[in-house]
Amino acid sequence: MDVVVVGGGPAGRALARACAARGLVTTVVDPNPGRSWRATYAAWVDELPDDAPVAVATSRARAWTTAEHVLARGYAVLDNERLRSLPDEVRVVAGRVVSWTGSAATLADGRVLRGRVVDASGVVGGGAAQTAVGVVVPAGRAVPFVGADEALIMDWRRPPAATTADPSFLYAIPVSADGVLLEETSLARRPGLPLRELRLRLHARLAVHGIPVPVDEERVRIALDGRARDGAFGAAAGWVHPATGYSVAVALRRAPVVAEALAAGRPVVRSAAERAVRALRSRGLAALLALPPDDVPEFFDGFFRLPDRAQRAYLGGHDDLRGTVEAMVRLFGSASWGMRGRLAFPVRSAKSARTPG
Ligand SMILES: Cc1cc2nc3c(=O)[nH]c(=O)nc-3n(C[C@H](O)[C@H](O)[C@H](O)COP(=O)(O)OP(=O)(O)OC[C@H]3O[C@@H](n4cnc5c(N)ncnc54)[C@H](O)[C@@H]3O)c2cc1C
Repeated sequence: MDVVVVGGGPAGRALARACAARGLVTTVVDPNPGRSWRATYAAWVDELPDDAPVAVATSRARAWTTAEHVLARGYAVLDNERLRSLPDEVRVVAGRVVSWTGSAATLADGRVLRGRVVDASGVVGGGAAQTAVGVVVPAGRAVPFVGADEALIMDWRRPPAATTADPSFLYAIPVSADGVLLEETSLARRPGLPLRELRLRLHARLAVHGIPVPVDEERVRIALDGRARDGAFGAAAGWVHPATGYSVAVALRRAPVVAEALAAGRPVVRSAAERAVRALRSRGLAALLALPPDDVPEFFDGFFRLPDRAQRAYLGGHDDLRGTVEAMVRLFGSASWGMRGRLAFPVRSAKSARTPG
């Protein structure tokens, strides 16, 4: 049977490519299929499939929490052109799907597309968000923040200017041979930390090193707790990790598996393990949202002290129940008594210090 993929984001296109590779007659529907992507998509190298379209990769990463951590993990920025590309066999339809069943999708203009419908239309709902403002500076200018062949995953040291107590960190990754993205990021907040506050903090960091502020900026808003839909794919399926905002690597890894199921006529459903991992991650998000700002670097210090295996399981294994439980138990067990109390009984007291969204 033909396949109709609703949504032409990174996930929908990965699935469409995988379906076409299996000989399935595939259509992608998106309101703006020709629009280019401005987002910088990145992932840990070891979470990506071998054929992932990598633009730039580093061989290690670094994180600053209450101390410095050097991580022996490669980090990659994806090539948006190749992430967007579709083989000629895939039909691309410009339109908005307004309703669908398992075997037909109806567009706003009344057209009906027949085939196995897969919802890859992105996140719906959710109140907590990751927000960020980033700029690309010449690599030579970024030296105070990030060294050669490395990615700065998070630097929780306070920015030189901030008008609120909300925690934010600097993210710094090479995006080309001579460009580095510097991004001030609020990991999770309900509602998302306003971009103007993040912009102020980022510009203050640049000013300390005399770096002129580039005109173009990347603006990030990722809903962290949207609804997970059964039979969906990508962010629509609830694959956005609430602790990182990431979902693209999972979509690239899962695309061939789901295409295989579609080719075999099997249903696309979320496994019990996947549901359980999502529930645990949601608990983790609730705890993170309630932590007092000054505790957040300490929390991540504990995380980066976990064994490498536990870190990878927690960040990457969207259906690795055992690994997720182990990482959470270890993190809890290694926390101070005060931190344990706050993690076990998330309260909203920290919110009182935060800016209204
Ligand atoms: C600036 C930015 C940077 C990010 N960086 C990263 C990163 O580094 N790594 C990472 O893993 N994640 C990152 N994310 C988060 C997340 O992975 C992305 O949001 C990613 O785009 C999700 O892919 P998706 O294809 O599932 O959904 P989307 O990209 O949201 O794509 C859904 C598509 O469906 C279309 N659509 C919606 N409704 C309909 C409809 N009714 N009919 C037809 N089409 C419809 C939309 O127009 C859209 O094109 C980032 C997000 C942003 C905003």
